[in-house]
Amino acid sequence: MTTTDVRDPYLAETEHVDPEIFRLIKAEEQYQVETVRLIPSENYTSRAVMEATGSVLANKYSEGYPGKRYYEGQRNVDEIETIVIDRAKALFGVEHANVQPYSGSPANLAVYVGLLDLGDTIMGLALPHGGHLTHGWTASATSKFWKSIRYEVDETTHLIDYDKVREMALRERPRIIVAGATAYPRSFDFKLFGEIAKEAGAFFLADISHIAGLIVAGAHPDPAPYADAVMTTTHKTLRGPRGAMIMCKEEHAEKIDKAVFPGLQGGPHENTIAGVGVALKEAATPEFREYGHQIVANAKALAAELRERGFDLITGGTDNHLVLMDLTAKKVIGKKYAKALDRANIVANYNTIPFDPRKPFSPSGLRIGTPSVTTRGMKEDDMRQIAAWMDQVADNVKDEDALDRIANEVRDFCRNFPAPGMHVV
Ligand SMILES: *Cc1c(COP(=O)(O)O)cnc(C)c1O
Repeated sequence: MTTTDVRDPYLAETEHVDPEIFRLIKAEEQYQVETVRLIPSENYTSRAVMEATGSVLANKYSEGYPGKRYYEGQRNVDEIETIVIDRAKALFGVEHANVQPYSGSPANLAVYVGLLDLGDTIMGLALPHGGHLTHGWTASATSKFWKSIRYEVDETTHLIDYDKVREMALRERPRIIVAGATAYPRSFDFKLFGEIAKEAGAFFLADISHIAGLIVAGAHPDPAPYADAVMTTTHKTLRGPRGAMIMCKEEHAEKIDKAVFPGLQGGPHENTIAGVGVALKEAATPEFREYGHQIVANAKALAAELRERGFDLITGGTDNHLVLMDLTAKKVIGKKYAKALDRANIVANYNTIPFDPRKPFSPSGLRIGTPSVTTRGMKEDDMRQIAAWMDQVADNVKDEDALDRIANEVRDFCRNFPAPGMHVV
């Protein structure tokens, strides 16, 4: 069956108007259905989220905030954005929410613009140790507008050393401390970060982009009681459209709102905001709670089986949705391994590991995670099967026939797990 054999009511017009783009969207849909997707920042949204995101709300301009707009014609948009704000506040237990940031990077920028003066010091986790670019890494503009200092993980345990974090905070007196990561397989002690920040006279930003869905589900400690601001993307474990939210204490609300608009952004993407609203409604259900816990159970099962098969894991395992593998002992290079996995229909990304002896564009690690496979209903036994294929791929990186044979097995396996929102099977 080819992709175009499947009639898709949502893309019928696209097929008619722009067959070239249509063909590629359908090919991507097929790809997402037929592969085991292990990129920990990706997921499958529901069709409801996609519908709201692709709706007529994309036609609107609504600069400002509900009740205080610079455009007329907001009778529906104001109601929508207010509902989404209220859902965010209820779900995360926060005093204030701004749902307008276009994505995670501009949202972090807005927190800094709102709470700091230019030249103040940001203290964040170093990128090679799991932090995000926007936590003050060299390549990010956040390190140009503000001074940045970086804490690291411990050289032997690869865990955050809270004594060292405290020591650095008291010595350097940063204006803000950022806790959050893109490649840290363990839980954050947000309470302790909050205490350290208070002691150092710093603001505390919890960047929960990767783990927001786990927090909502009660599968990871919640920073809301301790943080001045909580930033999350909406498209990772939270399973919404691509966007972000900033949540904060009432005392910071005005500064944060002004930083987002008119400080950094123009018209908010109300179509995305509506999609976020749908995702937040879905995230408030008992099914989502179960989903969050299953993500972690699956990650632990995947980690255990990989270890059993001789893979080295950073910190030895995981508490959350992701596993960071050190491939040195397996004698494969991250980039080559990720490419071979993709050929075998398993999608992951090569990643720097802490104190990596190799260069960032060809590092020693591979980063995998379970949000997407868990959305498809895969369980612990399925993780063991995936680990077995990953092991076979590592042994056959250069054997294209072997990789193609595994790819066929993976494709057949995926047929047992319908992907939400998809119209191909
Ligand atoms: C993904 C992520 C971001 C940035 O989000 P984008 O939407 O890609 O800009 C920021 N911080 C953390 C911890 C992230 O994981």
